[in-house]
Amino acid sequence: MSRHNTDDLLRSLRQGEEWFRAVFEGSAMGIAVIDMHGRFIEGNTAFLRMVGLTPEELRDLPLAALDHPEDHPRDEQLFRGLVAGDLAHYQLEKRYLRNDGTAFPVRLTASVVRDPTGRPRFCVAMVDDVSQRNRAEAEREVLEERLRHLALHDPLTGLPNRLLLAERMLEATRSLADEPGARCAVLFLDLDRFKNVNDSMGHGAGDELLRQVAARLAACARPEDTVARFGGDEFILFLPRVGGPRDALALAERVREVLAAPLELGSYHAYTSASVGIALGEAGDTPDDLLRNADMAMYHAKASGGPPCAVFDRSMHRAVVERLRLETDLRAAVERGELTLFFQPIVSLATGGVAGAEALARWDHPVHGRVPPDRFISLAEDTGLIGALGGWVLNEAARQVSEWRASFPSAAELEVSVNLSAQQLREPGLVDAVADTLHEHGLPPGALKLELTESSLVEDPVAAAGVLRALKKRDVQVYLDDFGTGYSSLSSLHRLPLDALKIDRSFVAGLDGGSTGAHKGAEIVGTIVALARSLGVRVVAEGVETREQLHALQLLGCDFAQGYLIGRPLPASEFASAFLGASPLQV
Ligand code: C2E
Ligand code: MG
Ligand code: MG
Repeated sequence: MSRHNTDDLLRSLRQGEEWFRAVFEGSAMGIAVIDMHGRFIEGNTAFLRMVGLTPEELRDLPLAALDHPEDHPRDEQLFRGLVAGDLAHYQLEKRYLRNDGTAFPVRLTASVVRDPTGRPRFCVAMVDDVSQRNRAEAEREVLEERLRHLALHDPLTGLPNRLLLAERMLEATRSLADEPGARCAVLFLDLDRFKNVNDSMGHGAGDELLRQVAARLAACARPEDTVARFGGDEFILFLPRVGGPRDALALAERVREVLAAPLELGSYHAYTSASVGIALGEAGDTPDDLLRNADMAMYHAKASGGPPCAVFDRSMHRAVVERLRLETDLRAAVERGELTLFFQPIVSLATGGVAGAEALARWDHPVHGRVPPDRFISLAEDTGLIGALGGWVLNEAARQVSEWRASFPSAAELEVSVNLSAQQLREPGLVDAVADTLHEHGLPPGALKLELTESSLVEDPVAAAGVLRALKKRDVQVYLDDFGTGYSSLSSLHRLPLDALKIDRSFVAGLDGGSTGAHKGAEIVGTIVALARSLGVRVVAEGVETREQLHALQLLGCDFAQGYLIGRPLPASEFASAFLGASPLQV
């Protein structure tokens, strides 16, 4: 188009179309007038400001000069459509270039203005700078993404949470239907003794441990797997495709290996391990089913005390239901008076007299009959009932021995041993509770011995030492139960203010039988006695079943003995008549 024609156009615009001028100048939106050859004629103030040009610079500029090179071909095609009359107008988002070469996003509406004969005269482009809007949108997207992340991830570890896990599991289990025979796997991990770390080293250390565990787990997984935090110390590894249980077990093994390396928590080294339950899923399984099955398998692994990994099978379901029922019953057992104490005599090997009795808890279940303590003590520990149960045992043992002391002259100095579980040791009020109980029943502190297992002491030696010292201050003695079955090193024993070691019955059993075996057994027991002497503590032998054992123990310098040979655990009344003389004092 020649300059002449352009001037014509401008003139006619300026003269005849006042309304247009008003809009044109006053608009906050950029408006440009373009001739039918694709050259700018003029732009309003907003447009000129947007592209950074003066009216003179804009004039006659081809469309391409302002178009982003990548957007131009499409724009030009549309423009040709407009000129040819194929399009009445068009609208698109594209990028313009400023004078300085920088690009910015615009929303453009282009239309044709025709003369009365229908001949196209010029184009009008209305241009909106949308960089502001785009920025706001981008910000909103980032925020939304962050919100989604927050909603689907665990804030502590950054791992996917239950919600995201469920989402991914649902997707994967659904797609199993398309692949006959395909399976997925859920590994349910529960950290062993995590509560100890939290209780003894504080929540900060607990959090740090969880973070480090999370990082290690994430490193074990393949990109297609999901590692999620399920609850407090529970993690899930979800494998959307596995060949079979072997794959899942191999991963479980790797996870356990990775977790075995010490964790650095500030200046401490902490050790952690996990019990793992595995469930395989097929088409038709729901995420809930799989998680529940894996949880059951984990529970089974933990409760069995056997291998730390277990693959779910149907029989576990029954075992868990059974345990749940027992748990409910145990809650009521204390109140319903279904718990009783049996007493087993402990004799002095020097005098042959009954020096004390060990109180052993029994549960007479209305349906299952007598449930052994090995089953319900661990249940009470797992369910937090041990505090109430242990409190009852302590009080009942003290009450009973105080009654015997008052009733039988031979029992005036009778001592009672009470077993404490590791968890009771961590209860902050333990020492006071012990002192209160003694006081309430009018017993001197020497009347009570507390038995602790090695494992409960090594679990948290620092805290244990503190409690033991506090008990010692109050003259309550502490016995180390089942000695030899734990892992206590000599050095850790040295630091604990213990009063006696109870040799585990497995060593006592080694004292008879073939002559070489008995010799070996005697060597072990002799060593334990020597160790006890060096620590300045006494020795009680457990599980004495034969005269031969008793004799050997006497020769080896053992102080006390306990076992079926001397007497089985008995109900209080039977214990009294068998060991405390037939006729109680009349009081
Ligand atoms: P423990 O403290 O080592 O108690 C000794 C266990 O050995 C008792 O088992 C006792 O019946 C058994 N025993 C005693 N003499 C012999 C023997 O000559 N031969 C054999 N084979 N066994 C003998 P019980 O009563 O079944 O208790 C098992 C464990 O349960 C106890 O081991 C103790 O750790 C725990 N326990 C019992 N009562 C309580 C309690 O009130 N609180 C806590 N925390 N634990 C308890
Ligand atoms: Mg004991
Ligand atoms: Mg024992």
